[in-house]
Parts: sequence; structure tokens; C-alpha cells
Amino acid sequence: MRLILLGPPGAGKGTQAQRLVAKHRIVQLSTGDMLRAAVAAATPVGLRAKSIMDRGELVPDEVVVAIIADRIDQADAKRGFVLDGFPRTVPQAQALDRLLAERGLALDGVIELKVDEGILIKRIETRVAEMTARGEKLRADDNPDVLRGRLVAYRAQTAPLTDYYARKGMLKSVDGMAPIDTVTAAIDRLLSPGGTGKAKATAKKAKPAKAKSKAGKKGRKAAKSLKKPAKKSAMKSAKKAGKKKPGRAKSRTKRRLTKAG
Ligand code: AMP
Repeated sequence: MRLILLGPPGAGKGTQAQRLVAKHRIVQLSTGDMLRAAVAAATPVGLRAKSIMDRGELVPDEVVVAIIADRIDQADAKRGFVLDGFPRTVPQAQALDRLLAERGLALDGVIELKVDEGILIKRIETRVAEMTARGEKLRADDNPDVLRGRLVAYRAQTAPLTDYYARKGMLKSVDGMAPIDTVTAAIDRLLSPGGTGKAKATAKKAKPAKAKSKAGKKGRKAAKSLKKPAKKSAMKSAKKAGKKKPGRAKSRTKRRLTKAG
């Protein structure tokens, strides 16, 4: 399975990526983590990237594309991967398309975590205040001013990727402000056979859709109604189910503060 997680810094991509890794036995490829490792090891890439990262700006496309090209060829990535923090620009997405095509590989999906930027900034302000009070060391880019800059970079350079993947019919969105487990369940549903790109995160437990459902757009709910023995009414039930609005997450405040990701 090969996936992309899209969403601004702090949306919870890292947390969801780790869960996908455990569930699907794939690897998480986070360009942010790889760049931080390069900075820590003072490699030429790290030396080049450090000040750019500290300012919350994007490192040049060719640097991250080279890192990813190298990484997806490694043995542990053969089973699949979830990209977290890459691609972040349309040229990076185009480069990824080329890299995959050259290797005869394809993406299984692009999942966007939709979030409220105002709430993200408040969260990081709280986290920074708490960590400072405890005397803990902060990441250089872990402060509200840099986060604002990173959100600006996201809107300008990364948000257009949602259109890029939507046009290819690959974009699936979830409510990233829902509690972590709810977001995970929503992603699971999207990745299950018949999962649609329009599902929202809900507080309900995930119910995988039937792969053979032909009940149209709202396949998941339709599949549920098709399970009933009264076959004649199946299409009617599917239509009715399709009109229902998806349930909203019960609480947005329960979601724990996570590391920027
Ligand atoms: P992240 O941990 O994904 O938020 O990334 C931390 C920082 O690394 C970003 O603010 C950028 O400076 C840099 N970075 C990570 N991934 C990319 C990418 N795909 N393109 C450009 N810069 C990146």
C-alpha cells in the first residue's frame, strides 16, 4: 500500500502515519524526520537545510525529491509506504509521479486531514507555554510565530496539491479535528474496499464496506442496507441511506495535543 497524508503542520499526520504503519506493515517516510536526522548528523544536506527549516520555509524541491527517490528504493519500502510531509509542492508531486511510474508503482490514495488553523495555533501556543514552564527543550521551529510561517507556506505551496490529486480522482478527506481514534477509524474506512473519498470522520466505529456493493456514491451505507435479505428494497434503502448526512464527531476538544506533523 502506498499512501500520501496531506495536511498542515500540526494536523496529526505523524500520528496517523504511525498507525497506518502498524496496521498495514508499511514504512513511514517523513521528509521532516529525514531532514532533521541530516541536520543532526551535519551532512551536506543537513547543513543546507538547517537555517531554512528553522525559519519554517521549505527546503528546495530537488533536495527532498532526491531523499525520497533514494528512500523508496530501499528494501523496507517494498511492501509500501506512507508519505508524511511529502510532497509539499506541485513540482514535488510531479516528481513523485515520475519516480513511481519509472518503477511501475502507483499510489493507493491521498488522504487529506482537514483542520482549523486557528485551533492549531492555539494548541501550539499552549504546548509551548507548558513545555517552557516545565523547562523542556523546544524544537527550533516549535513556536507560534514559526508555525504561522509554516501555515503560510502550506497555504501557498502545499494546499494546491489537494486540487492536483482531486483532479486525478485520488483525494480522500477526513476531519482532522476529530479525536485521534476517530480520525484513524475514518481513514480505515476510506482505505477499505468501497470506501469513498467523501466520508467524514465520525465518532462511530468503523464498519468496512462490502467490496461488491454497486449502490453508487454512498457505497458504504448502501452496502449495509444490501446486507438485508429483502433484496427488492435494497436500492430503495440505499437511496434513503444516501440522503442521510454523515454524523459529526462528538467532541473536538478530546483530541490530544500532538507533535507538529
Ligand atoms: P515537518 O516535520 O514535515 O513539518 O517538516 C519540518 C520542516 O522540514 C519543514 O518546515 C520544511 O522546512 C522541511 N521539509 C519537510 N518536508 C519537506 C518537503 N517535502 N519539502 C520542503 N521542505 C520540507
